[in-house]
Amino acid sequence: MHISDILRRHRPAISFEFFPPKSEAMSQELFSTIQQLIPLKPAYVSVTYGAGGSTRELTHDLVVRLHRETHLSIVSHLTCVGSSRREILRILQRYDEQGIHNIMALRGDRARQEHAPRAEDGFRYACELVAFIKHHFPHMGIGVAGFPEGHPETPNRLKEIEHLKTKVDAGADYLCTQLFFDNRDLYDFCERCELAGIHIPIVAGIMPITSRKSMKRMGELALGARFPGKLLRALANAEDDAQAEKIGINWATEQVLDLLDQNIPGVHLYTLNKSKASLQIHAALNIQSFDMLVR
Ligand code: FAD
Repeated sequence: MHISDILRRHRPAISFEFFPPKSEAMSQELFSTIQQLIPLKPAYVSVTYGAGGSTRELTHDLVVRLHRETHLSIVSHLTCVGSSRREILRILQRYDEQGIHNIMALRGDRARQEHAPRAEDGFRYACELVAFIKHHFPHMGIGVAGFPEGHPETPNRLKEIEHLKTKVDAGADYLCTQLFFDNRDLYDFCERCELAGIHIPIVAGIMPITSRKSMKRMGELALGARFPGKLLRALANAEDDAQAEKIGINWATEQVLDLLDQNIPGVHLYTLNKSKASLQIHAALNIQSFDMLVR
């Protein structure tokens, strides 16, 4: 089933993101996390793709294993920058053959590609990848990325929303956002999308801060992310990492409660392959499972 259909049926639709583990120990940790999260009946889960295809096989193997061993609906991320059309076609064919029909179509970060060889017939932007998937695999569901606080490469926000519209018009059927800490940024983004004629479901990406170190890493990963002063002050006053974690999870919980209250179609939790924050957020929502139907 396409994610856009799932988003229509599940309310609240909460989903989780994992990254492919690089060692046996990390793999065990991830599968223990997944076992703990399965009872929450997430709307879907997604698996990231390392910059420039650095986790190509690991992503593929994890997606296929989850598909075979669980009943989860799975989205495989795919970045295109630095890959040839032939390589991308082969990856998509393999997914298609294995019954994986939901792809998060991304460009990937050029900065992390500086030393990677360039593919002559490669893609420049995610909108080209979306059109490519739509052309070769019209039955696939396609998600794309959105940036409530703006993507750092396009400071002109009017232009940026035009680019987003092009990507959606190429065939995307839902959109998942970059992490953010102030819901007003998301609501404003939704309004700007609507004004631009973008009417696909928007899933809000939330990453709970679990330590001051993790916050610094998030600042690097999500360039331009705005950390509200109130949150920073609370974290600065935390006595230790355990207290910082509590503050981060409470903040994310308040965000999720408010998003669900505003009827945002879905919330995607960036788990970093750990279950604690997601379990606590779920408990605070006071619902039986994430697939309880409709209000
Ligand atoms: P695009 O939509 O191509 O946009 C990139 C930039 O180009 C934007 O500034 C846009 O405004 C601009 N642009 C678009 N079209 C044009 C045009 N025609 N002319 C000029 N400028 C244009 N990265 C990974 O490596 N692996 C992952 O698994 C991964 N998962 C992600 C999941 C989500 C939900 C999000 C939000 C991001 C993820 N990323 C991932 C990061 C992503 O690859 C980077 O943020 C990347 O810089 C942008 O990707 P995009 O698909 O939005 O690119």
